[in-house]
Amino acid sequence: MQNRLKAEQYIEGVLSQDRIILSKAITLVESRLESDRKLAEKVLEGILSHTGRSLRIGITGVPGVGKSTFIETFGKYLCNEGKKIAILAIDPSSQVSKGSIMGDKTRMETLSNDPNAFIRPSPSGASLGGVANKTRESILLCEAAGFEIILVETVGVGQSETIVKEMVDFFLLLMLAGAGDELQGIKRGIMEMADALVITKSDGENLAKAKSAALEYKNALHLYPLNENNWQIPVLTCSALSNQGIAEIWETMCLFDKKMLQSGYKIKNRQKQNIKWMHDAIKQKIEQQFYANPKINATLASIEQQILVGEILPLVAAKNLLELQHASNS
Ligand code: GDP
Repeated sequence: MQNRLKAEQYIEGVLSQDRIILSKAITLVESRLESDRKLAEKVLEGILSHTGRSLRIGITGVPGVGKSTFIETFGKYLCNEGKKIAILAIDPSSQVSKGSIMGDKTRMETLSNDPNAFIRPSPSGASLGGVANKTRESILLCEAAGFEIILVETVGVGQSETIVKEMVDFFLLLMLAGAGDELQGIKRGIMEMADALVITKSDGENLAKAKSAALEYKNALHLYPLNENNWQIPVLTCSALSNQGIAEIWETMCLFDKKMLQSGYKIKNRQKQNIKWMHDAIKQKIEQQFYANPKINATLASIEQQILVGEILPLVAAKNLLELQHASNS
């Protein structure tokens, strides 16, 4: 609880676009302390009416696909267009295998010096594929601080895609040419989840391979039925190193945003995401309360032992523990 500010100070600071206070506010919402949680709720309630006016973009792909290089180039492009962008990035120290030969310090270094960009790495340990538990809250804070485009980076490891998909408007899947779908963990479900596929590193001797991979994916995707948003998933190529295809990706996102606003899907999708957020929060709270209950704590080890020796069915053990919790609450 080191030197916390008052709720009003966080709110005023964020709304007046003070980056230092924005960073502190994100640290506050990420805190697990109960007292911080209450303060964080107050702050979030205070800024709520200033949120929502952004395009939220999720970016995923296997380590080494070129996420950070892409975000750097794409981010600079957007900044040059006069956009204010916030990036909720992966802290490289939290990745098991980085797949990059660049040193950690060079990650998005030029972009981090741009006055139009705000980069926040998610803390190591607290993340699943780079998506911190509190990414939704961080998105709201960044919006209240005037950022118009929010980029959420995640490593494609399976589960994290679904989590990010549930908090963004546009979901971008970066892919390597010729690496094999299996290798990239690309399941049909993940391709369907994407709003665009981009084949990275389309330059030099990789150019032809990238173009033919794009064609293959395009053909494959044509066989899929359209998603409920009626959007045909485009397949693009880009080179973040030679700045190719970046403007086209942004045009695709703008077209998507325009169409989804017109059809009402953007609003509908965010409403659905908010309902899901509430249910996730309920589940989390119930679980926390269950394991924090002293009676449960005192019994858990012996019940686990009973399960180990086959004395009790896990289902019955769960029922008994839930009854114990219920009894201790009433
Ligand atoms: P991440 O792990 O997905 O964040 O991937 P990085 O952005 O760290 O990139 C992995 C490697 O691919 C690095 O060595 C980059 O220099 C290289 N790379 C990234 N983008 C490009 C590109 O557009 N063209 C080429 N040729 N190499 C790239």
